[in-house]
Amino acid sequence: MDAATAASGDETVTPEVGDLSVCLACAAPLEFDAGRAARWLTYEELAKLDNDVRGQLLKAMLVILTNARIQSTRPVRPRARFEQNDRPG
Ligand SMILES: [Zn+2]
Repeated sequence: MDAATAASGDETVTPEVGDLSVCLACAAPLEFDAGRAARWLTYEELAKLDNDVRGQLLKAMLVILTNARIQSTRPVRPRARFEQNDRPG
């Protein structure tokens, strides 16, 4: 991984060593290393973060996990059809 998508907008950012992130697939807290690969933070490393930084990571993790839960429990329905728009006016 040599780039990351910012939480807002379409901006692609290049992470610096030590930048923190959260995996959008599994909500794992991550830190970018010298090779710009992302590795999991340990519980001990999370515990050492400033409260506001840890709080932001936890909020992002909660959003990802909550959204995944909502998606997994949403009933499967056929796609809505918009036939009215197909009629000649
Ligand atoms: Zn992941």
